[in-house]
Amino acid sequence: MGKRVVIALGGNAILRPNQEATFENQLKNVEISTDSISNVKKAGHQVIITHGNGPQVGNILRQNEEAKDVVPQLPLDALSAQSQGFIGYMMEQSLKNALTEKEISGNVITLLTETEVDANDTAFNNPTKPIGVFYTEEEAKQLEQEKGWNMAEDAGRGYRRVVASPQPQKIHGVSSIKALLENDTVVISTGGGGIPVVADEKGLLKGIEAVIDKDLSGLRLAEQVDADVFMILTDVSNVYLNYGKPDQKKLETVTLDEANQYVTEGHFAAGSMGPKMEAAIAFAAQGKEAIICSLENAVDALAGTSGTRIVAK
Ligand code: ADP
Ligand code: MG
Repeated sequence: MGKRVVIALGGNAILRPNQEATFENQLKNVEISTDSISNVKKAGHQVIITHGNGPQVGNILRQNEEAKDVVPQLPLDALSAQSQGFIGYMMEQSLKNALTEKEISGNVITLLTETEVDANDTAFNNPTKPIGVFYTEEEAKQLEQEKGWNMAEDAGRGYRRVVASPQPQKIHGVSSIKALLENDTVVISTGGGGIPVVADEKGLLKGIEAVIDKDLSGLRLAEQVDADVFMILTDVSNVYLNYGKPDQKKLETVTLDEANQYVTEGHFAAGSMGPKMEAAIAFAAQGKEAIICSLENAVDALAGTSGTRIVAK
């Protein structure tokens, strides 16, 4: 029997740091990841893909800011929807092509997905989510002064703009996702963490400016669709202790107790590995399987021979 697998794909893996943000470069990266995802489908699993959008939504935001005197700027929730659309398009087409070429059954469909957040989330007073291009410390200071942006250092790779990243409360449209999965369809959903919306007391929805962390939305999605496995595919093969230091240590199978201890010791940077570990720990705590690995190793990691796995005990 195949498993129901939610695969969360990093926005930085769709566009690598320092790579030019051309459509061709992003499509090429997407093709590498969809090749490996097609093998997960081939192995008989039900697959739901979700993905980040940090670099992409940051670039769309910049286009809006640069062109604001020509075309009115759109709010960040609308830009999130734009990024879901074009990233989903690339993934859907390249995954369909991979299924066709390998003669694997199934359809692929992209859903524009709204994620409900709490309007009173304290994150709105404390922006933490890195988006867009990398800047030097000097450029970052200048942008803070000139544009009023919030800038923060991102895992030793340079400075980036940061925006509010509220906790995802509920993914919309999950019953439709389940119906599609049962109909041999790979579903791409909740891209960029989902389009941030808030609900009023009548349940009426309205967009709000934020970028929801895709690892935490992926966790909600995995919970709501009753997934067996939650896989986070990123640009490192494993989670490390003392990451980037001479004594860094690769993690393979980690128990919940160990994982929680490493979190307390501060091994995982906020906005990058931090939310991945938080999401993986929360999923594993429900007695299910959580995996963090590189794009290339998805099939091996599902078989237990690669990546970092968080286990209940
Ligand atoms: P994604 O786009 O896949 O979400 P992120 O940049 O958000 O990627 O997270 C992956 C990055 O997390 C890695 O490239 C690495 O620089 C950083 N990182 C921070 N702490 C760790 C750690 N302890 N182990 C491995 N990677 C880490
Ligand atoms: Mg990330």
